[in-house]
Amino acid sequence: MSQATAPSLALGNLYARELPELAVSWQAAEVRQPQLLLLNEPLAQELGLEPAALQGEEGLRLLVGNQVPEGATPVAQVYAGHQFGGYSPRLGDGRALLLGELEGRDGRLRDLHLKGSGRTPLARGGDGLAAVGPMVREYVVSEAMHALGIPTTRSLAVVATGRPVHRETTLPGAVLTRVAGSHLRVGTFQYARSLGDPGLLRRLADHAIARHHPEAASADNPPLALFEAVLGTQASLVAQWMAVGFVHGVMNTDNMTISGETIDYGPCAFMESHDPATVFSSIDHGGRYAYGNQPVVATWNLARLAEAMLPLFHDDQEQAVALAVEVLETFQRRHDDALFGLLRAKLGLSGTGDDERVAALVSDLSGLLQRNHPDHTGFFRALGAAARGDAEPARSLVLELAELDDWVERWRALGPDPEAMDRVNPVYVPRNHLVEEALDAATAGDLEPAHRLLDAVTAPYDERPGLERYAQPAPEEFGRYTTFCGT
Ligand code: AMP
Ligand code: MG
Repeated sequence: MSQATAPSLALGNLYARELPELAVSWQAAEVRQPQLLLLNEPLAQELGLEPAALQGEEGLRLLVGNQVPEGATPVAQVYAGHQFGGYSPRLGDGRALLLGELEGRDGRLRDLHLKGSGRTPLARGGDGLAAVGPMVREYVVSEAMHALGIPTTRSLAVVATGRPVHRETTLPGAVLTRVAGSHLRVGTFQYARSLGDPGLLRRLADHAIARHHPEAASADNPPLALFEAVLGTQASLVAQWMAVGFVHGVMNTDNMTISGETIDYGPCAFMESHDPATVFSSIDHGGRYAYGNQPVVATWNLARLAEAMLPLFHDDQEQAVALAVEVLETFQRRHDDALFGLLRAKLGLSGTGDDERVAALVSDLSGLLQRNHPDHTGFFRALGAAARGDAEPARSLVLELAELDDWVERWRALGPDPEAMDRVNPVYVPRNHLVEEALDAATAGDLEPAHRLLDAVTAPYDERPGLERYAQPAPEEFGRYTTFCGT
C-alpha cells in the first residue's frame, strides 16, 4: 500500500452562494467502515486528484462526504419536477448532496456530488440511502455512455458503507461519487419560478449561462438564447440515445439537465431487439418513456422549461409565449437532423453527398428494423462486415431477406466506408443480463464481473478476442427485462 497523503482538494461553493434559495446546507451521514468498490482512475486524474490518495483513509472519507474540504459548503439542491406527467412542487435531493464545484485540469468547472449519502430535509418518506447494486449500475452505464461519446454525468467512485439498506430484501449500502457539468435541471427552473421571485429566476438563468452556455450572455435576449441552447443540446443528446438504442426510462423534468448531460441511471437500459415501443421500467405502463417516445417527451419537458422561464423572455406574456413557441418548434427538426447525421455515419456514408439517396436508405432501414426487430447494436456492427462484402452476419438477424438484400445492394452502391463504421458502431454496450450479473456479484462482494464488463464497455468500438459474450444479446431464458425506479 502506498503511503498516500490526504488528497488536497479545493472545492468551490458557487451554487450555494449564488442560489441560496435553492439549497439546504447539509452533511453526509457518517460512514464508519467505508470500503472502496470502484474507483475511476482516469477520471480522478482528469480532475487533478491523485488516485492513490483517494484510496487512502482520508480519501475514502472525502468520497463519502465525511471529510469536507475547507471552504466547501455541502448542500442538498432543491428542485421541482413533473414525474410521469404529474407535478411535484418540491422534490430536491432526498439522498444526495452537492459537495461543491471543482476545476478540472481542463479548467472546466464540475460538480462533485454524492448519491446515497443519507437522509436530507428533502427526503420525504425515503431513507436517504442507496444500495450497492444500483450505484454500480449507474457507474457502469454512465461510463459506458461516456465511452460512446454521449454527454453524461460521470462516476468517480462507489464506496460501500457497511450499512444495511432495506428494500424488498436487506442489501449492502453504498455511496456513488458523481461528477457533472452541473446538476441544474429543468425542475430547478420550475422550482425557482414557483417561488415567485423574478430576481431569483434571473440569477438562476445567469448562473446557467455562465456555466453552460456563456455565448448566450451576449445575445439580444440572453434567457431566450439560454433556452434555445438547452433545447439544442437536448435535441442532440436524445438523438445520440436513439442512435445507440438507449432507453433512459425516467425522463421526468427533474431528470433532464440544463447542461445537456444524461443524468440518473435508474430504470435505464439498452434496447436489444429493435422496437420503438421498448419499455423496461416496471411502472411505465403507458409507455410514456418508451424508446421511440423519447424525442416527444424531451419536447414536452422543454415546454415545461419554457413555461418556467417565460417571465424572462418578455414582459408581455403573449409575446413571451410566442418567442418560446418559435424556439420549441425547432426541436423536432434539430433532433431529426442530428439523428440523420448519426445514422448516416453508422452506415459509413458521412463522406458521400447524395443526401436524397442516403435519406431514402435511412428511412427504408428504419422500416426494416421496425419490422424485423434485430438486435440493435449487433445489427449495425454486422453492417460493417456487409460493407466489406459479407452480408451473412446481418442476414442472420432479420427475416425479410429479400428486402435486406435489396437494401444492402442500394447501400453498397454508395460506397460505405467500413473502417469509419467500426469507429461509430459499438461492439460492446452494457447488455442487460451482464449488467444484472455484475450487480448481483457486486452485491455479494465480488467486483470481478463489474470490472470485466467495464473493460468491455469503456472501449466499445475495439473488438477483442475473449470478449465474445459481451457482444451477444441476452439468452432466451433471461426473459423480458424489467427495471425499477427508486432503488
Ligand atoms: P430519482 O428517481 O432517483 O430521480 O429520484 C426522484 C426523487 O426521489 C429525488 O428527489 C430523490 O432525491 C428522491 N429519492 C429517491 N430515492 C430516495 C431515497 N431512498 N431516500 C430519499 N429520497 C429519495
Ligand atoms: Mg433524479
